[in-house]
Amino acid sequence: MNLATWVERHGRRRPGGPALATGERIHADWATFAARTAAAAAGLRDEFGLVPGDRVAIFMANRPEYLEALFAIWHAGLVAVPVNARLHHDEVAFVLDDSGTAVVLTDADHAGDVESLVGAVESLKAFTVVPGGDWDRITGARRASLVDRKPDDAAWLFYTSGTTGRPKGATLTHHNLMMMSLSHLADIDPVGPEDSVLHAAPLSHGSGMYALPHVARGAVNVIPGPGGLGGDELLSLLRCWPGMSFFAAPIMVKRLAADSALAGADLSALKTIIYGGAPMYLADLEDALAVFGPRLAQIYGQGETPMTITALSKADHGDRKNPRWSDRLQSVGFPRTDVEVRVVDEDDRELVTGEVGEVVVRGDVVMAGYWNQPVATAEALRGGWLHTGDVGSFDDDGYLTLRDRSKDLIISGGMNIYPREVEEVLLRHDGVGAASVVGRPDSEWGEAVVAFVVAAETGMPPPVEDLDRLCLDHIARFKRPKEYRFVDELPTNNYGKVLKRELRQLLREEA
Ligand code: AMP
Repeated sequence: MNLATWVERHGRRRPGGPALATGERIHADWATFAARTAAAAAGLRDEFGLVPGDRVAIFMANRPEYLEALFAIWHAGLVAVPVNARLHHDEVAFVLDDSGTAVVLTDADHAGDVESLVGAVESLKAFTVVPGGDWDRITGARRASLVDRKPDDAAWLFYTSGTTGRPKGATLTHHNLMMMSLSHLADIDPVGPEDSVLHAAPLSHGSGMYALPHVARGAVNVIPGPGGLGGDELLSLLRCWPGMSFFAAPIMVKRLAADSALAGADLSALKTIIYGGAPMYLADLEDALAVFGPRLAQIYGQGETPMTITALSKADHGDRKNPRWSDRLQSVGFPRTDVEVRVVDEDDRELVTGEVGEVVVRGDVVMAGYWNQPVATAEALRGGWLHTGDVGSFDDDGYLTLRDRSKDLIISGGMNIYPREVEEVLLRHDGVGAASVVGRPDSEWGEAVVAFVVAAETGMPPPVEDLDRLCLDHIARFKRPKEYRFVDELPTNNYGKVLKRELRQLLREEA
């Protein structure tokens, strides 16, 4: 089934009901959303000569047209490539090239970047600024009928970096995303037309995923104003859009919980805050529970099995009488209904309760594979199980606690940073002989990027400003190290592999 069926269906069933909103203002009712989706699907097909299976990227900040674009792409049987709006020009070029993207739907703020890529990226034929002349013309055109999609047809290429440094497109099919949506309804919350979902986090990542169960059930999708969501804005949106849920990285939950506007406020219209994507410190979680009450649910997932490995339910958060309550709060919860989750050793043998090993997952939500990467796919999905790279253990009740990441991923401010990407940029400098990038615990950002740098044999350590400039020129701003440490050598094992564990340990001890 094509996921865009949902929009068409609600367009008939509740034509006048609100579907998309910007702040307190309705952007489109369901009939309009359905009409625009079907018209844009025709436009994409006819204007650009696209055929089912072709890739169309969405590179823009959150706005209601984002969802029109996403569902139009699916309506036309195309494959969406949502690109993080904060990526550097070169990183965007890589994603477009790797995915063979033919057309980019972008906004005015990102159009300059995209324009310079037409011609530079071989597959890229055109781009359209949304909203704007072309897009408005396209969405005003005649309507396309919904293109049939089989369960295994690709719907969303979710770019995630992995350990190799180069991002890979986790290929999520219509069936994967359907299962993810049903799993939300089974394990997190039922959803109905009286509900709303607020997209306070990027639609190219977690928040986009949460749009799906809400579109499926006819709830309204609300885009907050630009800038971070504050307590005052949340309160006025709650007055307008009750039954509200939103996805937030732990850092955002922490900031909201500390916002004085929310202290003692009436939050009865707030249904659920779903947090995840990075660990949340217990003290922060307790502060958040004091403000929001048991309206928090935690999810643990990854691009390769979107939002769906385990969840710590709202009921678990509220179960203070349970003697294991605080252990539970430090866990990532219980396996989701639609997946099998195991902890295995290095030879993929299942470990017993309490033993620590790699978390592996099997189920219908697990990606079809990495786009055009058979070797990486075979490695990640070996034996039919997705190897997450996360290290954890189960307790007697079946709750999973993450202990470490076997991948070297740094999560800062809810954004994933793969050290290799940063190291490769630093090594471009003639004055850098070796570099190793790790995360330092940081009470505000979760982790902060720290670069350990060894000067090239012949020279002095390069100036920090040079290294900073190099990073700004090649990678997204949020990946730039917050600190550079010049050292004589990096700790290595017998094979010469840098022992990042030791560097992390050093930083942890200092903290
Ligand atoms: P991504 O593919 O960008 O969604 O990143 C997935 C990674 O984020 C996982 O493999 C974990 O390392 C981490 N992660 C996701 N959810 C949680 C969570 N609830 N607690 C701790 N780490 C998490």
